[in-house]
Amino acid sequence: MNKNSSNTMALAPNTSNKRETVCIFGTGDFGRALGHKMIQSGYPVVYGSRSTQTSSLIPKDAEVLSHAEAAQKAAIIIIAIQRQHYNFLTPLAEILHGKVLVDVSNNLKINQYPDSNAEHLAQLVPGAKVVKAFNTVSAWALQSGTLDASRQVFVCGNDTEAKQTVMDIVRALGLTPLDQGSLLAAQEIENYPLQLFPMWKFPILLSLGLTAFFFFYCLIRDVIYPYIYENKDFSFFIAISIPNRICPVLALILLALVYLPGVLAAIIQLYRGTKYRRFPDWLDKWMLCRKQLGLVALAFASLHVLYTLVIPIRSFVRWRISSQIISQAQNNETEPLNTTNAWLSDSYVALGILGFFLFVLLGITSLPSVSNNVNWREFRFIQSKLGYLTLVLCTAHTLVYGGKWFLSPSSYRWYLPNAYMLSLIVPCIVLVLKFVLIFPCLDKPLTRIRQGWERNPQYSE
Ligand code: NAP
Repeated sequence: MNKNSSNTMALAPNTSNKRETVCIFGTGDFGRALGHKMIQSGYPVVYGSRSTQTSSLIPKDAEVLSHAEAAQKAAIIIIAIQRQHYNFLTPLAEILHGKVLVDVSNNLKINQYPDSNAEHLAQLVPGAKVVKAFNTVSAWALQSGTLDASRQVFVCGNDTEAKQTVMDIVRALGLTPLDQGSLLAAQEIENYPLQLFPMWKFPILLSLGLTAFFFFYCLIRDVIYPYIYENKDFSFFIAISIPNRICPVLALILLALVYLPGVLAAIIQLYRGTKYRRFPDWLDKWMLCRKQLGLVALAFASLHVLYTLVIPIRSFVRWRISSQIISQAQNNETEPLNTTNAWLSDSYVALGILGFFLFVLLGITSLPSVSNNVNWREFRFIQSKLGYLTLVLCTAHTLVYGGKWFLSPSSYRWYLPNAYMLSLIVPCIVLVLKFVLIFPCLDKPLTRIRQGWERNPQYSE
């Protein structure tokens, strides 16, 4: 062992107490990485392999024996072998009787087999106590010590004592065991490492779709229309102006979409008169990805802030301001201060700043390290009350920005309104519905329904 690993060994908890020998079947990448980590933590390790020849890759202090010999030396056997090779375990059933078998395996596809690998193992060796663990930790992370992102180890099994023994090993390796219950949970645990940002799929696809739609919408209105009717080339709008239209529009729509499912759920509960009937699947899924929708909205809002900050240094903006000044000077005109416009412009900026500040606060409180430190009531207060306030401020920011041009014919090109006008539709619907729902005649029955009261108990399942 190298100098570093002997240090780790010295620091490992309870190294003075003799630890039980652990057997690992399979000298592949994972078996070797786990064995190495176990030896560092003070566990004697014996490998069960098809070939008893040791190689330089195998941890120095480990023994390599045949499967049967190795199994006899330990009460805990980690099966670091792919599921399709499990059949070799059947003839070993007698030796494995009463032992703890730890299934670490993963599959290539979600729900690849009808049963989980751990249940399959339990069927092949019925006398053994099968525990599922370690499948969410990678060999690379074990070897390199970069376990920060995968410190949690999901553990499940039908035998409580066996599960406890495995959880003790997990702790001794410096990882955090999470008891997931019986072996029935194994399939879910096996699917876990195969998932690719499951909660992010809908928000990302939706924002990509909306971005594409609003990009072409703005391109038609702001570049193609002036080119055809005024022969002006505004193609450079693609770099900053159009993104700075799309970002606030998406931030506002996505923020409103965070709160729309809650409002719809309230309407459904009021209509049904009970909370004991399941919501439609699409609404359940939508509610589950609200945090991700909110974070994507925050990303768009942050981009809007950045794009807005560079406005004064844009060549087009500087040219427009200087042309106005020169034209006033040439015509010997002065423009008096329009106090109404000054109020509108300052209010618009102030609402934007406050809205963005609360938006960031919402984003920060959704981080697990922060949300774990507030109680449920505090979390709901921030996400619901401050969330609606953010939506009100951001909607007001957009209304103050362009409200005065709603009826102006110049706002419509080919009958297409400005993109920001479209962005107000969903937030306004959400805010109006929410406003209606807080009327006592609706809020009181809704609160009672959420406390368990039913209007027509025969509907409950
Ligand atoms: P691997 O490198 O392919 O090693 C698997 C080992 O299984 C081989 O080295 C071999 O060991 C043994 N084996 C192969 N064919 C066999 C057969 N027909 N009969 C008996 N034993 C056989 O795979 P691995 O990456 O170490 O993964 C092992 C298990 O850990 C898999 O179930 C995998 O899903 C799981 N896992 C891996 C990782 C990872 O990062 N690699 C992470 C989590 C979980 P011998 O030559 O010594 O017999």
